[in-house]
Amino acid sequence: MEPTTVRGTGVVAGYAYAPAAWTRPAPVPPSNTTPITEEDRPAEVERFKRAAALVAARFSDRASAATGAASNVLGATAKLAADRGWNRAAIKAINNGSSAEAGTTQAISQFVAQFEKLGGLMAERTTDLRDIRNRVVAELMGLPEPGVPQPTSPVILCADDLAPADTAGLDPKLVRALVTRLGGPTSHTAIIARQLGIPCIVATSALHQVSEGVAILVDGTSGIITLEPDQAEAEALVEKDQALREEIRSWAGPAQTSDGVHIQLLANVQDGAAARKASMSLAEGVGLFRTELCFLTAQTEPSVNEQAKIYGEVFEAFSGKKVVVRTLDAGSDKPVPFANHAEEENPALGVRGIRLGWTNPGLVDRQLDAIAQAAEDNGVSEAWVMAPMIATVDEAFEFAAKCRDRDLKPGIMVEVPAVAMLPEKFLEEVEFFSIGTNDLTQYTMAADRMGSALAQLTDPWQPGVLRLIANTAAAGQKMNKPVGVCGEAAADPLLACILIGLGITSLSMATGAIPGVGVQLGKVSLQQCQDAAQQVIDARNSRDAKELAAKLLG
Ligand code: PEP
Ligand code: MG
Repeated sequence: MEPTTVRGTGVVAGYAYAPAAWTRPAPVPPSNTTPITEEDRPAEVERFKRAAALVAARFSDRASAATGAASNVLGATAKLAADRGWNRAAIKAINNGSSAEAGTTQAISQFVAQFEKLGGLMAERTTDLRDIRNRVVAELMGLPEPGVPQPTSPVILCADDLAPADTAGLDPKLVRALVTRLGGPTSHTAIIARQLGIPCIVATSALHQVSEGVAILVDGTSGIITLEPDQAEAEALVEKDQALREEIRSWAGPAQTSDGVHIQLLANVQDGAAARKASMSLAEGVGLFRTELCFLTAQTEPSVNEQAKIYGEVFEAFSGKKVVVRTLDAGSDKPVPFANHAEEENPALGVRGIRLGWTNPGLVDRQLDAIAQAAEDNGVSEAWVMAPMIATVDEAFEFAAKCRDRDLKPGIMVEVPAVAMLPEKFLEEVEFFSIGTNDLTQYTMAADRMGSALAQLTDPWQPGVLRLIANTAAAGQKMNKPVGVCGEAAADPLLACILIGLGITSLSMATGAIPGVGVQLGKVSLQQCQDAAQQVIDARNSRDAKELAAKLLG
């Protein structure tokens, strides 16, 4: 009899085989709501303060023990746990007669509602808030910390969803893969799994079929989880996979196909610190500098000089190399206080990115002045600059004129399907394209990139998306202008080969993904990539596309 399988969306490739270990459920606070008497309230407040401080201290300890992104994530959660705002709200509730457990729950619900109203990145932090609530309530009730178990032998971690704090302290030697019922390709779980170098599957709706302790085989490429597989076969697959991981660890670049065709692999960065870190990797430059991420808390627009200093740090880190600066992609999931448009019903389809210039025409001009100044200050001979969310040829024309006035090399992001359908018209106006597959997929499939229930649709392997990429790349080849990819698709080793086969000229990704992509490209010839790409764009669905690519190139 064939073993049972359940399917999700594979987001980090690789095989893992181990028993399933589920996260511990959140505590259920006592429903008894007898008000705390006035005389007992000070002691109840103290009880709350001790529990909240202990939870915050545990996060800080784990932040100090972790490194890189994990440490930053834990540090941010420690700050949120100690935040005076929600702590004060909880104390107020206790002083009004609530128990410490109920006060914690009320205060966090109030803050979750506020964060959800703000939307975007703030809304994503509600997972952290709920996680803090669960930990504080468990502490108050004398229960073990909810969340991730602390295994002593290898396991595959299964969860409905994982909070950043859960995933940040994980030891990849013991946690061999992550599988969640919710989550999407760009969710936090996927990002941390990529950083830890362990396979990851999200959006596994039937994950409840996997019971605690059952041996499972995880295939992070196909998204298939096999329950109680043949042990020898599973171990052989994992062994082969580990050999590949070793190859990835020792990859020394630069990227080239097996027949020696050089492929430019670049880094996505958000500030000077990230650029300096990326400059120590094998990235050949920066393919996407997300400038809006420098200003997520800026209430007023920084002056041209201030902006120039920030952008200059990135030019300096990659002195003499290619750096592509993207103008502010503010709005929707990346709110920038000084640039945001008024509240909208549907912000992903609203006034975001280049459209902010409609109501604030000087915004782009001042940013381009700052980029030009930074380029001059750092002796950059060719500064590549691109605009996000371009939808019409007129917008491309106007943006390019502003860039050329300042001696900047103009390009645009291809994120709106309208551009990918008429790429030649747009390429007549600009010098290069960079395809943002995260938004291109969101808009092509009409599926919110933040929605975990939509993970199957927000998959760049969707043949409709691949067709648009093919159309765009073909225009670039015909007109001899570079067309890169800087969305998450570029970081998927198999998809990277398909993109190169379609005629994409550079791939930009999170620094940690570069060696995996480099190794995979080295295993195939350009002709193989081209042949596979032609077959894959004819697939019926994203699953077939992935499986076909794995068969032809894996
Ligand atoms: C994209 O849309 O693919 C992209 C790279 O831009 P961002 O993820 O910043 O929206
Ligand atoms: Mg985008």
